[in-house]
Amino acid sequence: MIIWRTIGLIVLMLAALATAKARAADCPGNPNALGTSRMLSIDPREFLRIGSVQYKTSLPLEDREVVLTFDDGPLPPYTNRVLDVLAEHCVKANYFLVGRMARGYPDVARRIRAEGHTIGTHSESHMLGFDRAPIETVKGEIEQGIASVTSVVGKGTAATSFFRIPGFLRRQ
Ligand SMILES: [Zn+2]
Repeated sequence: MIIWRTIGLIVLMLAALATAKARAADCPGNPNALGTSRMLSIDPREFLRIGSVQYKTSLPLEDREVVLTFDDGPLPPYTNRVLDVLAEHCVKANYFLVGRMARGYPDVARRIRAEGHTIGTHSESHMLGFDRAPIETVKGEIEQGIASVTSVVGKGTAATSFFRIPGFLRRQ
């Protein structure tokens, strides 16, 4: 599923009725489940920057497909409530975790991992100022965030493959 520098992004399909019914059959106890249509394996060397909010490149999604992402966690009780709903609908999502929050709530971070969601990072402290801070400070925020999340959820989790800039405050 996850190869070196390749991350699985999980795609939720807002599906046509027929396929929705097929997926509901795969979600025990919930005939109205949204389900997950597929997992995309993304090579960051191919998709260096993703997201039409900031960049020109987006993912090669099919009609009615969306990718769910959640930033700024883990933070109970909210993260757990979201995870409960995702589980109820057999939906997988992508989390961009803040390093110190992962260390603060390791059980919640591990739950995200255990339930099959993809984990990226979102800096160590959610410092707002990536667009103007010294480059060494920015580098430290990124690397410490990766180290913190990896230390909590374990290696081989693809926690290093994708990064989302806090507040989208990027510069070249
Ligand atoms: Zn954020």
